Amino acid sequence: MFGKSINKKLKENDYRLTGQRTAILEVMMDNQGRHLSAEEVLAQARKKQPNIGIATVYRTLEKLAAIDILYKSMFNDDKYRYEINDDHNEHHHHHIVCLACGKIAELEDDLLCSLEGQLETQGFEVVDHELKFFVYCPVCRKKQNK
Ligand SMILES: [Zn+2]
Ligand SMILES: [Zn+2]
Ligand SMILES: [Zn+2]
Repeated sequence: MFGKSINKKLKENDYRLTGQRTAILEVMMDNQGRHLSAEEVLAQARKKQPNIGIATVYRTLEKLAAIDILYKSMFNDDKYRYEINDDHNEHHHHHIVCLACGKIAELEDDLLCSLEGQLETQGFEVVDHELKFFVYCPVCRKKQNK
């Protein structure tokens, strides 16, 4: 019901989907490309499972992130945010975060791959990298300039 790669990860990790866990995963699927906090997930999951509590949401999000179904990151508000990990390669995309409005955009090009190559010629084995840009977005800049 969730697509091949998600089902595979669930099975490999022996993670059974209860009704509440299903609701949480459905919320994440419904919000592809968005970066949700646990509270935001809770609000939407409650529409499907009214009795769901924040502790279950936290635990489920953490577990789904640990088995790579979700991607977890902190941006500019000291909250972990989660999104569905639908990247086809192993590596995750990068983010651009507006410091004024908190909007999160995704960076299409990964310019760091060539840098990784450089490091590897120096004898390093690069496992992964992470990059965030903190910006003022065009909308906020326009407001500030008024
Ligand atoms: Zn902004
Ligand atoms: Zn993202
Ligand atoms: Zn990258």
